[in-house]
Amino acid sequence: MGGYAISRERMVREQLVPRGINTPAVIAAMSKVQRHKFIEEVFWSRAYEDFPVPIGFEQTISQPYIVAWMSQLLEASPGMSVLEIGLGSGYQAAILHEMGLEVYSVERLRELYQRTSKRLIDLKYGRIRIKLADGTLGWPEAAPFDRIIVTAGGASVPAPLLDQLADPGIMVIPVGQQKREQKMLVLRKENGTVTQRELGAVKFVDLVGKHGW
Ligand code: SAH
Repeated sequence: MGGYAISRERMVREQLVPRGINTPAVIAAMSKVQRHKFIEEVFWSRAYEDFPVPIGFEQTISQPYIVAWMSQLLEASPGMSVLEIGLGSGYQAAILHEMGLEVYSVERLRELYQRTSKRLIDLKYGRIRIKLADGTLGWPEAAPFDRIIVTAGGASVPAPLLDQLADPGIMVIPVGQQKREQKMLVLRKENGTVTQRELGAVKFVDLVGKHGW
């Protein structure tokens, strides 16, 4: 059972489609990217279950549904640039890359960054641009971004990220006053105005930095 293709097909059918994931590019990417390759081998058998998985350093990859949901909320089309804050294992970045986006991703933990940097090259995702830095400051040299996705939770929307969002542009970010208790926010910048939609409750690891915890 080499590629876990059957597990992925089942994950899509049982966890994603019934909960409203219907964007073809998201389904195709979730069906293709080998989620198990982004985690330690001891967890491979659990890679496609309906749960987050540990990636070391007290961090996790979100459960498959959350990754798919955020990817869908971006309403992205091929060729757009996307900035991710919280590279972690590189799995979400790989999904965005498979959706045809030009991906930039920032990670603040050096060891995780180094490990993931090697992994992305091994898995032929070398085109994803990554940086070791405090992502709450964004990536000013590469801005503006058509889309921004934050995969860690802070108490507010970091101002630099809003500045670096293109117009028109969409940002998806979990925000909450308590740690591990956030609401998913979708911010839409259009004609110089930002509107915000608040979606369901989520539980992300801490966004740590100048504009985070
Ligand atoms: N998207 C990742 C999982 C993210 S876990 C994946 O697909 O695997 C959240 C990640 O955000 C962790 O790796 C954590 O170190 C990182 N993080 C937290 N605060 C950050 C910040 N200010 N800048 C960049 N990365 C940050």
